[in-house]
Amino acid sequence: MSLRDIEKRIAVCTACRLHSTRTNTVPGEGNPVAGILVVGEGPGQNEDLQGIPFVGAAGHLLDRLLGKAGIHGRGQYFITNVVRCRPPGNRDPEDDEVRACAPFLREQIEIIQPKVIIAVGRFAACNLTLQFGTMGSLLAKRGLTYQSPDGSICISVIPIYHPSYLLRQGWGKTPKAKAIFEDTVDRLRQAHDITHLPRGL
Ligand code: URA
Repeated sequence: MSLRDIEKRIAVCTACRLHSTRTNTVPGEGNPVAGILVVGEGPGQNEDLQGIPFVGAAGHLLDRLLGKAGIHGRGQYFITNVVRCRPPGNRDPEDDEVRACAPFLREQIEIIQPKVIIAVGRFAACNLTLQFGTMGSLLAKRGLTYQSPDGSICISVIPIYHPSYLLRQGWGKTPKAKAIFEDTVDRLRQAHDITHLPRGL
């Protein structure tokens, strides 16, 4: 199985109700051998129209945050979402939609075998780590991991605030928003550092 095979299966997937309202599926893109996997929640309107993750305002801010941490462009990571079709009105994906889409993420992780996963926002962080709580409580935890169901894969997960949240906070304008921005860049730097470690550490 290859990433291309998974993409083809996603393109014709009708396993949940989201298929009936999508314009395009959004399977993910980027460099699968760079060591970093970035996982968001689900496509928004721009992503649905283009079939590419994180191409709207939140995506531009994410690019900027990653760039500040020395991660420049999709040649340095692979990026995808927990669900691959846009939830109408950008609502949170429902549990059954997440379950229907989960095999695709699991298989992509098996193929990519990233050294680190950056979980963008609470929704992605909870679904990857199976630790449920507020974003604050997840950010306070050290040593978060993604484990494959059979236990054969264990990968460090670094959660960050979703850039949509930073946009809503008027990022960079208030001291609180500036602090969140800097904290996010620090976390992304940690993720980047992990890619320089030998595999398995
Ligand atoms: N927000 C997400 O979580 N994913 C996208 O692809 C775009 C916005």
